[in-house]
Amino acid sequence: MALTIGVDVGGTKIASGVVDDDGRVIERSLRHTPADNPEKVAETVADAVTELAARHQVEAVGVGAAGFVDETRSIIRFAPNLAWREEPLRKKVSELVSLPVVVENDANAMAWGEYRFGAGRGESHVVCVTVGTGIGGGIVLGGELYRGRWGMGAELGHVQAVPDGRPCGCGNRGCWEKYASGSALLLETRKNAEADPSSATHMLRLAGSVDEIKGEHVTEAARHGDAAALEAFDAIAGWLAQGLADLAAILDPGRFIIGGGVSGAADLFVDKVREGYAERLTGRGHRPLAEIRVAELGPSAGLVGAADLARLR
Ligand SMILES: [Zn+2]
Repeated sequence: MALTIGVDVGGTKIASGVVDDDGRVIERSLRHTPADNPEKVAETVADAVTELAARHQVEAVGVGAAGFVDETRSIIRFAPNLAWREEPLRKKVSELVSLPVVVENDANAMAWGEYRFGAGRGESHVVCVTVGTGIGGGIVLGGELYRGRWGMGAELGHVQAVPDGRPCGCGNRGCWEKYASGSALLLETRKNAEADPSSATHMLRLAGSVDEIKGEHVTEAARHGDAAALEAFDAIAGWLAQGLADLAAILDPGRFIIGGGVSGAADLFVDKVREGYAERLTGRGHRPLAEIRVAELGPSAGLVGAADLARLR
């Protein structure tokens, strides 16, 4: 049994784990991300790896990172939420741990984890859409992770959905993630609650005021039948459906996987996404419909995928 370590470096947490070749996590470690200091991030990753490697015979390390990773899987060119600019993370970590290291975009790592061990099993053409604060993407075509020429492919959240729309952290306007992510869900809900507080009675009891409404309030209020929350879920579902139909026009996958934090409330919107997708798909009625499934590995998908990509390096 070959063991590798997967590391998922997010904006607030660094999750690491020893993973076997069936995608099982044998031991985990969780650390805080020193987000404003690239040197410290590399050291924290190396510390976590060293600690785990002392107790297990591991052969390589895969690091999933929330940023634009170059085609050699070594350098993080840029990260919207961390202080990385042209950061040679692979070199730094491999020098500190004396093991082979590969660096992957975190959404690519998640998609790979789901493809190999989760909701993507058994399908060779998979598009994974990670719906959280923003939208991340990962594409598997013919059983291969598609990275693009420069490693920057599958940034699905930044396809323009609305000309001159809401400004995005990437510098453009109207990006899909500004309409179909968890942040958009919250924005929509607050707008609805403000326009008609009687449509948000349960939610306002939970949150106190419109400004204090959080993601978990939206989900709970939707389950209690608050129209403000249910309509916001419908709006997000519509934008997701449109985006998936557009992706199918380009990629024609056999399966979409919806993951990320918002997928925890998938029962509130995934049927609407399936419906809307079928209504918007080009050539509908004359082609098979891709399945739309909910991710299965939860928050572990990134580290499991990164560990597997390190094994297959
Ligand atoms: Zn954008």
